[in-house]
This record gives sequence, structure tokens and C-alpha cells, in this order.
Amino acid sequence: MQHGFQPKILICSECNEEFVFTVAAQQYFAERGYTEDPRRCKTCHTRFKKTQRDQKSGTIKRQPEFNYPD
Ligand SMILES: [Zn+2]
Repeated sequence: MQHGFQPKILICSECNEEFVFTVAAQQYFAERGYTEDPRRCKTCHTRFKKTQRDQKSGTIKRQPEFNYPD
């Protein structure tokens, strides 16, 4: 059984909307070694990632990539 994880309500730093940091997402984060909560909701994160990719700036790598599980 999983323990220690509960869905969290977070505020997106991008659109200021509440979003749920799901247990699945927390587990995914934990597996990847992330210890901090995400700052963006899935929608904003996806858009942010797309923007970064579109810019093709290989030198700027401010945030490690991750994908939210559904
Ligand atoms: Zn957002």
C-alpha cells in the first residue's frame, strides 16, 4: 500500500488557479527525485514546456523536464 501521499491543492504561479497535485503525480515526482511541489498546473506547465521547446535554447535549462501523469 502507498502511504504518505495525499492529493494536495496548490495554486499555480502562472494562472493563479487552484490545481490538484495528485497522488500519482507526487509518486512520479518522488521517483524522479523531486522534493518540491510543482509551481504550475498541468495546463501551464505543458504550455511552458512547449514554449521552451519552441525557443530551442539549449543553453537555458532552468527546470528539469517532467510530465504529469494523468
Ligand atoms: Zn496554471
